[in-house]
Amino acid sequence: MIADPEVEARPWAEQFTVDDASFREQFAYLLDRSLFYREKLAGFVPAGLADIAELPLTDKQEIRATCTPENPIGAHLCAEPSELIRIYSTSGTTGTPSYVPLTASDLENWITGSARSYAASGIGAGQRIISTYNAGPFVAGAALASFERLGLVHIPFGTGNSDRLVRAIERLKPEAVVLTPSYAAHLAERNPELAESSVERVLVAGEPGGGEPPFRAKLEDGWGAKVTEAMGVGDIGVSLWGECEEQDGMHLGARGFVHVELIEPETGAALELSDGANGELVLTHLRHRGAPLLRFRTRDHVEIRTSPCSCGRTSPRLRCIGRTDDMLIVRGVNVFPSAVREVVSTFAPDVSGHILVKAEAPGVKQDPPLPVSVELAEGAGADAALADAIREKVRSVLVVQTRVELVPWGTLRRSEYKSQLVERQVL
Ligand SMILES: [Zn+2]
Repeated sequence: MIADPEVEARPWAEQFTVDDASFREQFAYLLDRSLFYREKLAGFVPAGLADIAELPLTDKQEIRATCTPENPIGAHLCAEPSELIRIYSTSGTTGTPSYVPLTASDLENWITGSARSYAASGIGAGQRIISTYNAGPFVAGAALASFERLGLVHIPFGTGNSDRLVRAIERLKPEAVVLTPSYAAHLAERNPELAESSVERVLVAGEPGGGEPPFRAKLEDGWGAKVTEAMGVGDIGVSLWGECEEQDGMHLGARGFVHVELIEPETGAALELSDGANGELVLTHLRHRGAPLLRFRTRDHVEIRTSPCSCGRTSPRLRCIGRTDDMLIVRGVNVFPSAVREVVSTFAPDVSGHILVKAEAPGVKQDPPLPVSVELAEGAGADAALADAIREKVRSVLVVQTRVELVPWGTLRRSEYKSQLVERQVL
């Protein structure tokens, strides 16, 4: 069911007109209130949203550099202290966490967008959902509010006690669970009874992976349920994107609240948002008050789909291929560890689906062959022919030479939150 049909089924071209008006207002607000953008833009004012690519990009490091003991949030803070109602921290996939201040209307918009994104997965009023985020200081907490908004019975559960969680699923019989794809895989691996549980929908978010076809197939098999994914960007908004039951990429649930662009990560050049295009996702707040961001580099590398979707939602869809930060360049070829995992996973049931890419050189550029540890399935023994077949398939699909080392089941570290796909040399 579409949570907000008037908005979500509106022709995408009309969205631009609405967003253009919001952008002009947002821009005027920034010039009025944002010390950071007043300095950064140095008087440049675009004619409208169509000219947004003429504005500079915003990097997280730039914002961070403006934090002071007097203003630990950063110079992009626009709202008065009395206007704020909440301050989250980002989980900080790189470096120290930063603070995300929200006004009442910001939080309301976040929950609205998140509710649209999660409703796309097919969950609805009266159903039960178990959440497994230890939300704590993190923005994921705002996503949980969207479950109540949709009329679901929300059963909050943290990570850390899988047995208790599996017992709760048996007793409370939820129709849905929401967790990270790593944790979903971890639970299914250890609890084969979950395939027969009441859970019909597994909603994954928090890291890429839930959209990789072999990994998704494994999750769907392990849970006996449909898997869809959602994605947010800490500094911009929670669960901005949510996948519908067609399972062909995540729709923009936060349409009207953020503007979407794609850039070439190395040069920053704007790319057209066309079907099949891929690049780094860049987002701009359209109606934000706390600490709005303009052309924010998300470091998420995504692939866009703009073909019509039979669910009736008209926003573009995307799939996250990986973090730009995780990307390695091997002899001129961009390699995402998540793409390596996707290829390796096609060797199931011989492999567990867990891999670790060992970056030997500091930095992005690596010399071939790239060492990759591939974990075998439970009970499987090392087999030179399997290692050769994996190496050959990775070479033909991703055009990269690897050195595949097969390791026994259970060797690679599992995380209940985000799985680590790259091991970097510490200098
Ligand atoms: Zn759809």
